Amino acid sequence: MSAMKILAADDDALSLRVLQRSLEKWGHEVVTATDGNLAWKALLEDLDIGVMIVDVNMPGVDGLELCRLAREAFGERVIYIIVLTAKRGAESMLQGFAAGADDFLTKPFRPDELRARVEVGFRVIGLQRMLADRMLEHEAAERRYRELVNSLDVIVWEAEINPWRHRFMSEQGAKLLGGSVSRFIDSDAWLSHVLPADRATVEEYRRLLEAGAPMAGCDYHLMAEDGRVLTVRDQARQVFEEKGPRRVRGVTIDVTERRRAREQFEAALKMQADFVNFASHQLRTPLTGIKWMLELAMGEEDGSPDMRGFVADSRDASERLIVLVNDLLSVSRLEGGRMIGTPARCNLAQLMRDVLDDIQPVVRKSEHQLEATGLDVEHAVMGDAQMLRQVLQNLVSNAVKYTPHGGRIQVEITNDGAEVRCAVTDTGIGVPESARARLFEKFFRAENVSKVETEGTGLGLYIVRLIVERAHGRIWFEPAESGGSRFLIALPLATTSEAAPASPVEV
Ligand code: ADP
Repeated sequence: MSAMKILAADDDALSLRVLQRSLEKWGHEVVTATDGNLAWKALLEDLDIGVMIVDVNMPGVDGLELCRLAREAFGERVIYIIVLTAKRGAESMLQGFAAGADDFLTKPFRPDELRARVEVGFRVIGLQRMLADRMLEHEAAERRYRELVNSLDVIVWEAEINPWRHRFMSEQGAKLLGGSVSRFIDSDAWLSHVLPADRATVEEYRRLLEAGAPMAGCDYHLMAEDGRVLTVRDQARQVFEEKGPRRVRGVTIDVTERRRAREQFEAALKMQADFVNFASHQLRTPLTGIKWMLELAMGEEDGSPDMRGFVADSRDASERLIVLVNDLLSVSRLEGGRMIGTPARCNLAQLMRDVLDDIQPVVRKSEHQLEATGLDVEHAVMGDAQMLRQVLQNLVSNAVKYTPHGGRIQVEITNDGAEVRCAVTDTGIGVPESARARLFEKFFRAENVSKVETEGTGLGLYIVRLIVERAHGRIWFEPAESGGSRFLIALPLATTSEAAPASPVEV
């Protein structure tokens, strides 16, 4: 609070001096004026003047006139006015109060009476200034609160119920629906934006709140001023206050984009499901039939050697197609989250032994040297045995496939008490540095593969990655010292000795 000064105005020089001396003796800062005009000028110029002691009878602008001027001119500014009069009696006192004075002293007055009255004036002014400061703080807080509410991405509102009318709505209401929010206040204009098909739903939700439900929510559609239709979600709560009409407060969230994205996602999932259905029935079944037919034809004695060669090639091609369809099906199911398998505790070492047994004939044919370590102890992980086997099978068969004749393939399983690691290392063609970052992407094949293996879809490692990640594991590549490749997977060590409850299987 700034310093407060006293303005003393009296045309009688002696009285004025006495007044000034006394006030200064009590520690006040005093400004003096010998007539009404000078007093008015001082009031206008010195904003620290908080108390005015003014003689009623002055030439020109008299004391009462000065009171009136001050009251009319200073709206916000607070001044405590004490009027000095020579006349006793209620009449002159009433005149003073009517002109806007706060207190009254009849000359001659006792100095201690003047002192007491000035002190009252100071107290009143102090309180008024404090109140004004509080009001400013309150207004600033309210402004901040409104700015905050208006900057939110949702419509914040408050409404009276019975009958329903909005008492407050944040600016977002105008942004979403167009026009200004004022048209919603003290009315139920909101309802006119609700699409007719949703009116009953909204009325039902309102009825719940009217009946006293502590909170309620509802999804519906609104038509904006420009004709756009928005999908919104309302969430409202009762305001529990004893005074005033019953009210609810709520937020309205524009979920149009979210809803659209969900619908698109659901449509994509459906397309994927349709594809799986189509591929499994319309492609895989007839292809399997063709392969069997071709195998039967191969078993027949008749036919020229050329013809038998054609049949064998056709059988191989149909088999490759079946593999491709199966891979596409796996990808589609894994991506759509519909292939979860049956998670259970399995021994990765045992799965690897099975895979190596199966692949033995190919390894032998390629004259590779195969070494395995860590397969004679249990390395327990949680996962679907069939799917984990597919992972190992893919890594080992890639090593065999991308290693020219007479190479060396090492398989190693270890565990550090937290993770089981499986590494498959070969002395093959390796992966060019530029291709390493993309190895686990869908359909990716490095440019150097054509040297050894032209057949391939680039789906195997992608499927492997999806399965490993579903099992909360990691997969990565490291160049092997020989120039070949080293693929590693790490899976969490199974902590329980019991098999997990067998539940979802692939759809
Ligand atoms: P595909 O073998 O059908 O091409 P994969 O997804 O199994 O598909 O492998 C993707 C690519 O990763 C391969 O085309 C090849 O470029 C590279 N790759 C995978 N394994 C090896 C490996 N052991 N040695 C060299 N390159 C490999």
